[in-house]
Amino acid sequence: MAPVTVKKICCIGAGYVGGPTCAVIALKCPHIIVTIVDLNQTRIDAWNSPDFRLPIYEPGLDEVVREARGRNLFFSTDVDTAIQEADLIFVSVNTPTKKSGVGAGFAADLNYVELATRRIAAVATTSKIVVEKSTVPCRTAESMQIILEANSKPNCRFDILSNPEFLAEGTAIGDLLAPDRVLIGSLQSAEGKDACQSLVDIYSNWVPADRILTVGVWSSELSKLAANAMLAQRISSINALSAICEATGANIDEVANAVGMDSRIGPKFLKASVGFGGSCFQKDILNLVYLSESLHLPQVAAYWRQVVEMNEWQKKRFSKTVVDTLFNTITGKRIAVLGFAFKADTGDTRESASISLIRDFLAERATVSVYDPQVEHEQIWADLDDVVPKSLDEIQKQVTLCSSAFEACEGAEAVVVATEWKEFLEIDWETIYKSMKKPAFVFDGRLLLDASKLKQIGFKVVIIGRGEEI
Ligand code: NAD
Repeated sequence: MAPVTVKKICCIGAGYVGGPTCAVIALKCPHIIVTIVDLNQTRIDAWNSPDFRLPIYEPGLDEVVREARGRNLFFSTDVDTAIQEADLIFVSVNTPTKKSGVGAGFAADLNYVELATRRIAAVATTSKIVVEKSTVPCRTAESMQIILEANSKPNCRFDILSNPEFLAEGTAIGDLLAPDRVLIGSLQSAEGKDACQSLVDIYSNWVPADRILTVGVWSSELSKLAANAMLAQRISSINALSAICEATGANIDEVANAVGMDSRIGPKFLKASVGFGGSCFQKDILNLVYLSESLHLPQVAAYWRQVVEMNEWQKKRFSKTVVDTLFNTITGKRIAVLGFAFKADTGDTRESASISLIRDFLAERATVSVYDPQVEHEQIWADLDDVVPKSLDEIQKQVTLCSSAFEACEGAEAVVVATEWKEFLEIDWETIYKSMKKPAFVFDGRLLLDASKLKQIGFKVVIIGRGEEI
């Protein structure tokens, strides 16, 4: 046997990972036909929209899709045909935290992975390389292999690879074009190694050889969970220190800078904030907690659980700071929340800190005005409806969605910066100040703004990780 030369790729799942990842493969491999499929017709229609109103906002994605779509990149809801025609299939479906049943609140819900795997087995008439792109618990590849083998047609063989995705939303295209590393896990059999080589050959079209790491399949699966857990752990560590800074008068930026200059530690991912969000960090750590508990390793589970607990505490702590500072009551007061995405340069709101802040402000009977440069209003209503224990009608009486920062801040007593959009750095804060009630407060949950400039204007400024006088 020799490695298969891949001519056609199918990607199941046209989301934040499947879409950009396979669009970049299509861009860099014009000799390969790449079809990205999804059951969600609206999403596929958006990927195919004539005016490139793509379903996700990601800097640079538009250009990639413009170049490759219709040439060798296709989006479709015809999952079965794309599976049948492909030599290699990425499974890039969602793996959310389970909401109910065994492991609820911790374990990954593998229903979508299993359904996609069963579909592959049901419709494939030729051999395939099946690649786990989704983030999954360690040894999921084994389950996929068993399902595929039990349901395959004669003469169909399936080789499973793990190829977790390390892109970060907001910088996905840059990350995909110049990845720190591409990780490919395979079984150590001759067939496993051949399948691995087929995928290495694809990435080699643009990724330098020393950035393509081939390992065992279980190491690959675990590495993805480990990488996210360690990134989140750094944020929780710096956030824990931010609380000490506020209590002592130390400055978290100065501490982070001093600590990060140690080459053993490094400066990245040491920015204190109102807490991490996004679809992955919390989910993947909880997944690791569940895995540790299942393996009868309670101390390991407790260790990682603390990273998530610190994050929850940080979000609550920030809400409490707002209430305490506004003279212990925000009832009837207007609070402007700037930013609803979980971080800048994305329209993704999954697990965004803004959602939990707004829930707390509403519970305190404040009115809230929200502005985000990218997030659709429909999405904001859906998210709030999900987490606020009130009817949407009641929520809409307390919340106003705005189309500019100025509109959101007019008449407000406090502005809360919840997402580090560059736009908030550049707005005319003098005009904002004039339109607000006095004293006018700014709460910077992202260490974004220039506090001394704001104070000169007249604002009372509260910054996460700084124990300065207001
Ligand atoms: P997503 O929810 O944006 O996309 C998943 C898509 O899969 C959805 O559009 C859904 O309709 C589709 N889907 C589900 N089952 C299907 C099926 N049987 N057939 C066809 N389509 C199906 O999720 P995402 O953010 O792209 O994440 C996908 C995976 O990648 C997850 O495991 C996630 O943990 C992981 N991941 C995400 C990121 C990130 O930044 N979002 C980064 C690295 C890894």
